[in-house]
This record gives sequence, structure tokens and C-alpha cells, in this order.
Amino acid sequence: MEYTSTRDNGIIVASAQTIARGISEEGGLFVPVEIPHFAPGELRELAKLDYEGRANAVFGKYLTDYTPEEIKAAVHEAYCTGRFENDLPDPLVKLDDGPYMLELWHGPTCAFKDVALQILPQLMTRAVKKTDGADETVILVATSGDTGKAALEGFRDVPGTKIIVFYPSDGVSAMQKLQMATQRGKNVAVCAVRGNFDDTQSAVKKIFTDSAAKAELSAHGRAFSSANSINFGRLLPQIVYYVSSYCTMLADGELEPGERVNFTVPTGNFGNILAAYYAGRMGVPVNKLICASNSNNVLTDFLNTGVYDRNRKFYATSSPSMDILISSNLERLLYLLLGEDDAAVRSLMAQLADTGRYEVPDSVKAAIKEQFAAGWCDDRAGAETIKSTFEEYSYLLDTHTAVAMRVYRDYVKATGDKTKTVIASTASPYKFPRAVLSAIGERSPEDEFAAAERLSDITRLPVPEQIRALRGMEPRFTGTIDRTEMREYVMSTALSTKEEG
Ligand SMILES: *Cc1c(COP(=O)(O)O)cnc(C)c1O
Repeated sequence: MEYTSTRDNGIIVASAQTIARGISEEGGLFVPVEIPHFAPGELRELAKLDYEGRANAVFGKYLTDYTPEEIKAAVHEAYCTGRFENDLPDPLVKLDDGPYMLELWHGPTCAFKDVALQILPQLMTRAVKKTDGADETVILVATSGDTGKAALEGFRDVPGTKIIVFYPSDGVSAMQKLQMATQRGKNVAVCAVRGNFDDTQSAVKKIFTDSAAKAELSAHGRAFSSANSINFGRLLPQIVYYVSSYCTMLADGELEPGERVNFTVPTGNFGNILAAYYAGRMGVPVNKLICASNSNNVLTDFLNTGVYDRNRKFYATSSPSMDILISSNLERLLYLLLGEDDAAVRSLMAQLADTGRYEVPDSVKAAIKEQFAAGWCDDRAGAETIKSTFEEYSYLLDTHTAVAMRVYRDYVKATGDKTKTVIASTASPYKFPRAVLSAIGERSPEDEFAAAERLSDITRLPVPEQIRALRGMEPRFTGTIDRTEMREYVMSTALSTKEEG
């Protein structure tokens, strides 16, 4: 399987290079030249396997320059060695007469990002060896909250790597900040940046394409890569859980062979829902992909009108990991829907950079209408949904998944669609204890940990150990810089030989 860039079809690389580099040098995103496919019979066979077996099959289709043994070893290490509760990254919980909750947050940092970021280092270190790459890979991450911690946990003390995480100083929750600031490991650095996530992400992307910076690193045997969802190696493990959840429903008799399913995804950077789209293109019979946004509803407008316009107010919401106005992975969808026309993608992305706005042609609008539905809700509607879902099902949603639930309910009201629906549940409610507690109508203590304990008393579900362990830990990374200082921070951290203690 070969990969090309969304902005230059002349670029052809193997999967290992795609993962090792993270982003194409001209700023485009890597995509497979052809999307592999499972025949219905193959999906029925996959339904008989466990997560490990399904993951091996999906990875095998995309990572053709890895040996089956390499894939198996990576999958096993990530998913079968106790990193996820019961070694099951994708438990599916059916709410009575309601949707199916795909709980993707039973990993080390309590958010769905773990599913990809526990295996990415496995794939990346093997990729670097195969491509005869740098002695040391410097992973740059911009995070809206959950990627940062998940990437730090994934890459911590992985030989041959160093990881630098930037987060917007006022754009993440208190728990997310504490998770990152207390990170252990010899090869990690974390720094807050003044501004919002879009500023941080744009600055990181700029460093990736900064040829002077790359040359300087290269002279020291080092190279940049990305652990953000601009790296196709992040999306691939996410495709697995959409295929797997469909297989689980088949195996459990919840779906007849060939019966279609909806996926509802709380969306920010468009990575998670794009993985669902790929699963559909691979043969999972998808009816609608329902894209749920918070008040930063640029995607809702885009999917409904074909006009992408980021020139709007930015809201800091109670679902901070979705506070994004420039959704990077949309570029990959555009590329596919534009018939792989790299020049057309280049032109749209140039318009986005210049004016913050673009409009897609009618053919793309029609294709979007066929496959997607989109909606949004604000913090208040999200909180009401946490409350009503808890009352109705004794089931607790986090603030992000609540947005998805609300948008799904609105969608059903508007369309009457009875297709069985999987909702991607992207974080543990204990990651946002104060917001969740006040949503269910309880007075919330100032302290996040006190709120978590209170939540646990009410729900009789234990606080995850990963959260509880943070209490009283001293922050190790406390710096805040300006966006203009990021390059220097990166270079001095990347080139330092001294390991942090
Ligand atoms: C990252 C994140 C999202 C958004 O996912 P994208 O792939 O960026 O669209 C939603 N919910 C949570 C909890 C997240 O951490």
C-alpha cells in the first residue's frame, strides 16, 4: 500500500515513512492511495475474532511494508498487556432502547486518544528503523487537552524518541492540565502557550515545515514527527475500533449481516469521525455519520452548507477538547470527495489560510449530504443531556460525549431515523468531575478531586486510579510562553542532550 499527500499526488511513500514523518513536507496530509476493503464475508469472519485479531487484520491491510510479525507484536504490546481495562479498548454498552455507547476511555489517560497513542510509538519506532531514519525522533504535539497526556503516556521513556507537548494556557480543563504538568519520564517536555488551540496547532504545523529547523535537527541525527491526528498512524487505530464495534454488534446479533449502522461522533479536529468514514469506505455498512459539535460549530455549518468559515467567535466551552475552529483532518475528506484532486485541495487550503473561508463545489456538497448529518449544542444543552441521560439510564456521560448524545437525539427527532446507532464515548466523566457534577444538579466543590469523590458516591462507580493518583502530585512543568517563542523552545529542547530528571 502506497501513500500520497493531499496537496501533491507526485509524492509517493510507503506506510512506514508516512508514520515516521507524520506530515508531508509541503504541508499536506498523507493518505493511502487506495482504501482497502473488506468483503461482507470477511467482516463476518472478523466478527469471530477478538479485538487483537481484528486489529491485526485492519493494520495488515494498511501497513503492507511491515511484516505480519511486526504488526502482531505492536498490537499485542498496545492492547493485550494490561494498558486497557480487561485488555478491551472498545467495550460497547447498550442503553435500553437507546444508542450503543462505544466506551473508548478505559486506557491509561481516560480518553479515546489512548487507543491510538498506545500503539503509535510501537508503529513509529519500527517505522524509523525500517526507513533508516534519524537516531532520535522528536515528537511535537499541539493539544486541546487529551492528546497531550495520551501522547506523553505513549511515548514516555520510549528509546529513540523525545516528546514536546504544547497546550493552550486557558484552553484545557484543570484535570487535563494537572495530568500533563505532572507527567513523568526522561524524554518529555510540556509547556503552556498563550492563545487558543488553533494558534498552537498552526504554530506547530509551521515548525514541521520549517526547513531551517529541520536541517538543524538533521545535522544532529534528529527528525520531527507528529503524534497529532495529522499523522495517519493516529487515524489507523481509530479505524480499527469502528470496524470492531460493527463486528461486535454482528457477533452479538444486534445487527443482521448487511444491516446499516449510524455512528455519532463528538468532533473537534475531525480525526475520529474521519476514521469512521474510512471504516465505511472499507466495507462497514454505514448509514449516516453524525458529526456533533459544541458552540464552536464551524463543522456543523460546513457540513450543512458547504461553506467553511472560521471567521467567527471562539468559545471556551466545558468540552474543551472540541474547542477547535480549524479542523485539520477535514482536508483528508475534501481530498477524497474532490476525486483526489490535489490542486483543488491546495487551492481550498490556501483560501483557508488567506481568508479563513472556502466553499466546496456542488459535487462535494452532494456527497457530504449523502453520508453525513451534523448538529451542535451549547454547554447548557450538554449539561441537560448529562442530567437526563443519568436519570433515564443511570448512565453518566462526560461533557464531550454529552454533546454527541444531544445532537443524536435532535437528529432522531428531526429525521425519525431508526437505524441502530453507535455513539463514540470519548472520555471518562471523571476527567471533568466538576462540570459533570453540577450538570446532574449537585453543588460542585471547588476541588476537582473532591468533586470526583462526590461523583463516585452518587454513581457508586469508583474514581479511576489514574485520576485518583494525581491528587497531591507536584506539577513538574509550569512554564507558559508566547506563540512566537515556540520555535526556540522546540529547538533548545530537541537539541539538548541532557535528560530531564
Ligand atoms: C480529542 C477529543 C474529541 C475530538 O476528537 P477529534 O478527533 O479531534 O475530532 C472529542 N472528545 C474528546 C474527549 C477528545 O479528547
